[in-house]
Amino acid sequence: MEEKMMTAEQWKELDKQYIAGTYARFPIIAEKGEGAVLTDIDGKQYIDLGAGIGVTAFGYLDPEWKKAVLDQLDKIQHTSNLYYTQPCITLAKMLCERTGMSKVFFSNSGAEANECAIKAARKYAVQKKGAEYTTIITLKESFHGRTLTTLAATGQDHYHELYQPLTPGFASITPNAGTDELDALHEKTPVAAVMIECVQGEGGVLPLEPDFIRAVSAWCKKTDACLVVDEVQTGNGRTGKLYAYMNYGIEPDIVSTAKGLAGGLPLGATMLGEKVENVLGFGDHGSTFGGNPVCCAAALSILSRIDGELLDGVKRKSDFLRTAFRNAKGIESVSGMGLLLGLKTEKPAFEVLAACRDRGVLCLSAKDKVRLAPALNIPDELLARAADVIKAVCAE
Ligand SMILES: *Cc1c(COP(=O)(O)O)cnc(C)c1O
Repeated sequence: MEEKMMTAEQWKELDKQYIAGTYARFPIIAEKGEGAVLTDIDGKQYIDLGAGIGVTAFGYLDPEWKKAVLDQLDKIQHTSNLYYTQPCITLAKMLCERTGMSKVFFSNSGAEANECAIKAARKYAVQKKGAEYTTIITLKESFHGRTLTTLAATGQDHYHELYQPLTPGFASITPNAGTDELDALHEKTPVAAVMIECVQGEGGVLPLEPDFIRAVSAWCKKTDACLVVDEVQTGNGRTGKLYAYMNYGIEPDIVSTAKGLAGGLPLGATMLGEKVENVLGFGDHGSTFGGNPVCCAAALSILSRIDGELLDGVKRKSDFLRTAFRNAKGIESVSGMGLLLGLKTEKPAFEVLAACRDRGVLCLSAKDKVRLAPALNIPDELLARAADVIKAVCAE
């Protein structure tokens, strides 16, 4: 059958036949997008509060982003890391200048950015302190990726069951419960690093308590363990700061990011602070695609526009949503930060998502929550319309 004649149902059948069944997809065949609006193959339009899971930071086909990508495509699309390229170097400089970190390793995804963070932390600890300093502590309900090592880092047992043995050397502690557990684990097996998300995204949009974050940071300083902050979801303006850790006055040793960084092209970055800046040497790590010039040009377009004004807008839009949902019928609570919000609804989240979808609004879920992560520059008017739909659906 000619592709353009196929119905949505037929596309879904083909997907089921040929694509590994790892995704519970929403029943929409996405065809195009503009700003915060996604259009399916039947021409139905949706206000998108999911933004490709917080990836399309400035919406679909943002004109400046698109120009940066096309300009780079007119030059060269890939070189491998055998050669220097300008966008990659310029982006690394910008990331370091805006964070105070010292060096960057580029990859293609969040999981890879975390793999690099883990390798850097392990190597630092083993070289500096001894071969027994291998344990990486993460938090219960965390999410760090799908590779076997980042799964081991992910503090949710149900992800682990069928993939044993995972990479050894990981343990998870209860978030927001002080540092006693850290002390106890450190006594048994010396700790190389502690890895946290300031807001646990996949875990249910759960912000850590500021006191806990600062206590973990102080504990890492005291023991010379690396503090690794996973900013894959919370980074690049999502929480109203460039990186979420900047909300707490802490200085991580390693920061990983991806999702929104390149506005919809695959790019991961692992930023290394002063303590570990030279820990990765020649031959220690690599990536064929990492630092791809098109992806880096895209990221430069995004990062250079995440300024005070944009971040103020994120905070304002966040306040607008929080006010809209406060005391709304059928909405029990709102969690999160900036434009990463979780709604605890009386109805099951999947029901809210389906009803919103019918009325032209796309949301995400995270555990039992309805998760919102729209484009950082979503127009106020679209946000207001989408919030009305969510409120109406939750109130029914
Ligand atoms: C999405 C996510 C990852 C994994 O990113 P991928 O690009 O899917 O590999 C890791 N950590 C956090 C916090 C995430 O939200």
